[in-house]
Amino acid sequence: MPSREHRVRARNESAWLLPNDGTRANHRLRHDMRRFSDDDEIDLVIVGCGAGGSVLMQRLARAGWKVAALDAGPFWDPDTDWVSDEAGSHRLYWTDPRVIAGTDPVPMGSNNSGRGVGGSMVHYAGYTPRFHPSDFSTRTSDGVGADWPVSYPELRPYYEQIEQELPVAGERWPWGDPHRYPYRPHPVGGNGEIFLRGATKLGITAKVGPVAITNGRFGNRPHCIYRGFCLQGCKVNAKASPLITHIPDALAHGAEVRADSMVTRVAVDERTGRATGVHYIRGGREHFQRARMVAVAAYSIETPRLLLNSASRRFPAGLCNEFDQVGRYLMVQGAPQTAGRFDAEVRMYKAPPPEVSTEEFYETDPAKDYKRGFSIQTVSPLPITWAEHVAAQGHWGRALREYMSDYVHWSCLGALCEFLPLPENRVTLAEEKDSHGLPVARFSYSQCDNDRALARAAQNVMEDILHAAGADEVITIQRYAHLVGGARMAKDEQHGVVDRNCRTFAVPNLYITDGSVLPTQGSANPALTIMAVAARAAGHLIASASGGAS
Ligand SMILES: Cc1cc2nc3c(=O)[nH]c(=O)nc-3n(C[C@H](O)[C@H](O)[C@H](O)COP(=O)(O)OP(=O)(O)OC[C@H]3O[C@@H](n4cnc5c(N)ncnc54)[C@H](O)[C@@H]3O)c2cc1C
Ligand code: SF4
Repeated sequence: MPSREHRVRARNESAWLLPNDGTRANHRLRHDMRRFSDDDEIDLVIVGCGAGGSVLMQRLARAGWKVAALDAGPFWDPDTDWVSDEAGSHRLYWTDPRVIAGTDPVPMGSNNSGRGVGGSMVHYAGYTPRFHPSDFSTRTSDGVGADWPVSYPELRPYYEQIEQELPVAGERWPWGDPHRYPYRPHPVGGNGEIFLRGATKLGITAKVGPVAITNGRFGNRPHCIYRGFCLQGCKVNAKASPLITHIPDALAHGAEVRADSMVTRVAVDERTGRATGVHYIRGGREHFQRARMVAVAAYSIETPRLLLNSASRRFPAGLCNEFDQVGRYLMVQGAPQTAGRFDAEVRMYKAPPPEVSTEEFYETDPAKDYKRGFSIQTVSPLPITWAEHVAAQGHWGRALREYMSDYVHWSCLGALCEFLPLPENRVTLAEEKDSHGLPVARFSYSQCDNDRALARAAQNVMEDILHAAGADEVITIQRYAHLVGGARMAKDEQHGVVDRNCRTFAVPNLYITDGSVLPTQGSANPALTIMAVAARAAGHLIASASGGAS
């Protein structure tokens, strides 16, 4: 029986394709990568090289498809582009203008979207929990949210594959569909110890993991050095992101990654209604890449924006928008963050921010006056983010300075609350234009009563945990995390944009394979699920091409 390593290598060699000489990017692989010309009619062009786009590209490259992924941002080199410094990491985020609106507008930028090859996972924290089986049928079970056209058991094999490929480390997971992780849990730092101590005192089960951070060496990827810079792009290459987990393998199998290429429009033949390729801007010049099929994986804001900006005579209200579904049901998780002060030093920066979590409160509790639930995790902000936390609480001047000089005594937990998908929470096009003259996204967001009740409940539990662990002061701020939805999967075109295989209802050779397609978000971090959904869509495309798809 082949070892686990051989099984992973047979499916994804990325970790072994990284250099073994102290540098962190395989320049030879990038230099020698296949390059298609705009005039080649390639099999598939993918817009966006993040969580969903990269997995799709890697799977199809392995199946022998001619595939290229275009990304608006750079092809990062961790050695030269990244610094272990909060302020210096600003370039990792998508900071182009966006208009926000609604009664509870969501600030955009560093907290939700990335730019460049690897996507938002370059600066994500590294938590990789699965969704629970209940997340796939909340409408039936709880009367809120939506039912997916795909069930948890259909996604399970893809979760298992991606967990091996990242790989994920953590304790045996008792919640949702109980399962094990391929790597043992990491040792925990001061913040994780406090969470475990407080939770144990209250009888709340909390577990170490699950994180996509190598615990020990994995291929040519080094182990974590516990310096806490995961949200700034891990310079060490210990934290998984597509830049190191799926892209090298895709390149080795003949895919092209075309960086610094901003796609402006998906082209559709007015007569046949089929996608013919994408218009994009590179080096200040307009190009058109021909392709037999197109996949959009540009993140929950940019994917609906691109569809709306691709309006044509045949699709006057925007591509795939005949039923006014594009941009709707966009979701953010409510993410209150509670910090507690301890007399002893905590030094929460001395470990990856993702360490310990609990999903005890994930499911609907019939005794409560709200539906669905929340998870709680360690978050460990670095000093600038800590200053934002303290300032958001209203502390300025001398008080802010005192909190800052007391930083090493603070511990910090964050909740992820399952805010519900609502049709009026959506992306539309704003009047304002970007530097290419394209209308920017306008994102309107308002909470419902259930959302507010969840955030209050999560805050209470976090404050109780920190008090139980011995905190003498606790402060909580309200914030948001993660964005999914906006081009959701549904059983028909009146309720969503794509079918269960991520194929758009309106254009038969156009797919969407990023977080936009998620109909609900649970209270789990979304990246693993996005990758699993993209891997499943890739399997469907490969099977369809060989005549085997259902
Ligand atoms: C600070 C932070 C922490 C996070 N922590 C976690 C975590 O711990 N666990 C977790 O599961 N999730 C986490 N997330 C969320 C996670 O990273 C995202 O949900 C996920 O990466 C989204 O995947 P995606 O494929 O939808 O888009 P992305 O990964 O964002 O990829 C989209 C790509 O498309 C490109 N693009 C956009 N528009 C265009 C265009 N017009 N033309 C060409 N390219 C384009 C972008 O440059 C980008 O590279 C975090 C996010 C942030 C910001
Ligand atoms: S703590 Fe570990 S995973 Fe995070 S940035 Fe440092 S080495 Fe990378």
